[in-house]
Amino acid sequence: MRLDRELACRDIVELVTGYLEHALPPGDRERFEEHLVFCDGCGTYLDQMRATIAATGRLEPAALPAELEARLLEAFRGWRPA
Ligand SMILES: [Zn+2]
Repeated sequence: MRLDRELACRDIVELVTGYLEHALPPGDRERFEEHLVFCDGCGTYLDQMRATIAATGRLEPAALPAELEARLLEAFRGWRPA
């Protein structure tokens, strides 16, 4: 995937697997990290993904607990584009 704009939270969710697998092109990786600087919700999401990988040894976004998903949606709701 190639993006030439700022990322939205939705994009972060789509790119997080590639990010954690170091599979993103440098430009996308840079924008991903820029988004994390100002977005607490996605920072939390990334931390949770890392914790999930540490616990299970693999990437399994679909296995995110419903309670966590609800918290993330709550966090994203508070975010508005500048
Ligand atoms: Zn975000």
